[in-house]
Amino acid sequence: MNKSYDLIVIGAGSIGVPVALEFAKKNHSVLVLDALSSPGQGEDKKAIGGIRASHSDKGKIRVCQRSIEIFSGWKELYGEDISWKNNGYSFPAYTEEHETLLKELMGIQHDFGLTIQWLSPEEYRELNPGICMRGLRGSTYSPGDGSASPLLFTQSCYFKAMEQRAQFRFHERVMEFSIDKSRISVVKTDKNQYHAAHVLNAAGSYAREVSRMAGIDIPVQPDSHEAGISEPIKPCMGPMVVDMRNEPGSKNFYFYQNTEGQVVFCLTPDPPAWGTDCRSTSRFLPMIARRMIAIMPMLANLRVRRTWRGLYPMTPDGFPIVGRMRELENFYQAVGMCGQGFMLGPGMAEMIYRVFTGACSREDLEILEHFDPYRNLEREEVFK
Ligand SMILES: Cc1cc2nc3c(=O)[nH]c(=O)nc-3n(C[C@H](O)[C@H](O)[C@H](O)COP(=O)(O)OP(=O)(O)OC[C@H]3O[C@@H](n4cnc5c(N)ncnc54)[C@H](O)[C@@H]3O)c2cc1C
Repeated sequence: MNKSYDLIVIGAGSIGVPVALEFAKKNHSVLVLDALSSPGQGEDKKAIGGIRASHSDKGKIRVCQRSIEIFSGWKELYGEDISWKNNGYSFPAYTEEHETLLKELMGIQHDFGLTIQWLSPEEYRELNPGICMRGLRGSTYSPGDGSASPLLFTQSCYFKAMEQRAQFRFHERVMEFSIDKSRISVVKTDKNQYHAAHVLNAAGSYAREVSRMAGIDIPVQPDSHEAGISEPIKPCMGPMVVDMRNEPGSKNFYFYQNTEGQVVFCLTPDPPAWGTDCRSTSRFLPMIARRMIAIMPMLANLRVRRTWRGLYPMTPDGFPIVGRMRELENFYQAVGMCGQGFMLGPGMAEMIYRVFTGACSREDLEILEHFDPYRNLEREEVFK
């Protein structure tokens, strides 16, 4: 039997790695267990790196505002480049319905201090000169948003956590818990057994299976999304473009140019592709290429280097599930990050720390209501 830890984190991904750093920085003993070979090998490395605070609800807005402060200050604080780019986000509107929805949302977003603006088609073209003007009614532009490399950030965060004496064990799959009265007393992997004062489920797309080991069902269900990256080209794009329109076979899609000049893109399939199948399909590239060329014709000869398929750990309402479980006093969830786990990660890690230490502010408690594991899951997030 190994030593006992203050915290065991199950999953070294977008959430688990920043959580490890946060706890280790504050001198807590933390052990992170992951079934895969190194940090970020689950969905984290599948993310295309979009980071925005321009959400539709207080919870995600506030957590991502803090994440943006962390991502944007990372290089200065730790001296490591994570390819942070303050390129902003834009949601161009081609229908009256989308224009109305986006303008309504801007009211909520302004209440939280987001400097989001409505641009006329001509103003928007100045930022994204290649944009298709036909039918364009205008666009939101949130200059505070940006992007970074999940690979670079999670690696950097992992090494910083190790420097602060966090421990990681890879190739170890959590298989079972021993429950003693109302506590998890032992975490059993396929190789070892561990004790901890607290256990955090950060198992991403496999969070439901892990939670069931504690006899608790949580509604996290993975659905798959495909993404791709081009060769580098000279800088030609401003903010991330999110096209909210539906087309046969797909819902919204989004793309941006990263610090290397590569165009990175991702699409939401319609109907959703539920399940854990991560084999690339032949449908994705023709579908997204046609849509990207339609909205930005100058990308017609862009050469694609690579595509991949990963999973969004979805919840029924599109909000994460974060908090302590009533059934077991030392078991916590930080799961159901949907399509935003990378951008939520660092801000969420700090909030999870405050939850564990009972140091939540009044605003934290309000935010946590949005992520409450026992909430009514019937409403749906507008930007889900
Ligand atoms: C194509 C695509 C594009 C995306 N783009 C973005 C984006 O631009 N911005 C953004 O913010 N998000 C994006 N996302 C979403 C983001 O990748 C996820 O929300 C995020 O990675 C989830 O973080 P997580 O820590 O919950 O899960 P993960 O990062 O998957 O980490 C969970 C870890 O738990 C481990 N694990 C699971 N079960 C066990 C077990 N029993 N024992 C031990 N270890 C276990 C896994 O191996 C994994 O490493 C995208 C996702 C995809 C698929």
